[in-house]
Amino acid sequence: MLSQLVAIPSVNPSLDPAGDGEGAMAAFAAGWLRARGLLAQIEEARPGRPNVHAAAGAGGRDLCLCAHLDTVGVGGMEIDPFAAAVAGGRLYGRGAYDMKGGMAAVMAAAAVLAAEGPRGGRLSLALVADEEYGSVGADAYVRMHRPDGCILAEPTDGRLVLTHKGFLWLEVRTRGRAAHGSRWDLGVSAIGRMAPVVAALEVFDRDVLRARQDPLVGPASLHCAVIGGGTGVSTYAAECRLQVERRLLPGESAHAAAAEMERVVRGAAADAEVRPYFSRPGLVGAVDAPLSRAVVGAGTAVTGAAPPVEGAAYWTDAAIFAEAGIPAVIFGPTGAGAHGSLEWVEVDSVVAVAGVLAEATRRFWGQ
Ligand SMILES: [Zn+2]
Repeated sequence: MLSQLVAIPSVNPSLDPAGDGEGAMAAFAAGWLRARGLLAQIEEARPGRPNVHAAAGAGGRDLCLCAHLDTVGVGGMEIDPFAAAVAGGRLYGRGAYDMKGGMAAVMAAAAVLAAEGPRGGRLSLALVADEEYGSVGADAYVRMHRPDGCILAEPTDGRLVLTHKGFLWLEVRTRGRAAHGSRWDLGVSAIGRMAPVVAALEVFDRDVLRARQDPLVGPASLHCAVIGGGTGVSTYAAECRLQVERRLLPGESAHAAAAEMERVVRGAAADAEVRPYFSRPGLVGAVDAPLSRAVVGAGTAVTGAAPPVEGAAYWTDAAIFAEAGIPAVIFGPTGAGAHGSLEWVEVDSVVAVAGVLAEATRRFWGQ
């Protein structure tokens, strides 16, 4: 089944206009799940961007297993991205690791639980669109469904990830005064006014943010990511725009981080404008929460060893579930090459994750 998933292209069309999108993947998954006794339906997160919601059981606690349908693009890959070649216990292809391996584990666990007949709880599957770009799929899913907990099978190499960073995007704008390049007496370069802002942000990153440490995910950070300004070499630049990304520690407020960055920018250029335009919170989890205990207990029972508990530097859809009041953790298979030129997943780890997800669900239900 994983080979079939990898063979169906689902490159996110917001990342690559030539990408196929999630439609064929969603149709395949819904059909596969219906054939195994689950109620499965396609829900459009946006026109042309489908989620699959599937369910089994009635009454009791509702545990959601989540995977994303989309992948990043295939440019620069050194293998056939859709051949799903298997060699040495590894399955190769775009999305094998991030995260069709996890999706196969989620679907297999759901099939096992549906065949058993869920007792004392309900199962939901969230197969969502657009995780690799804007997460419109997860955003739509939590507006429509309210499970009591969610396990995302993003690839974690068999570790239980309870916490990860968030992020904040801001634009800084400085203004100058346009003038002929010879008119030093009239012109003011907006780029020249941005230079001390960039320098101040670099110092703030190095001296303040790097000292702000979380024991599981490391330090906060920022970087100046995109800059532009000026219209021609003989004209004083009237405007300069800088996009800055700030990575937030779990629990850090985007609002407070934006206010803090505005102070740093204003200290370097008093009339610079600072506009926060997008943010996502981090994920904060507890090892003694019922969902964490269910996964640790299941991992121990299925694999013989408790999964290591970790934090992650990257962001995931888990934060969207958590922000909606649904406790969420991340546990998935082993491999390498996410977004890279040589992507693979260890087949045995996909089977093990499927077993852990099914057992964690039973435990979360109280069986
Ligand atoms: Zn992913």
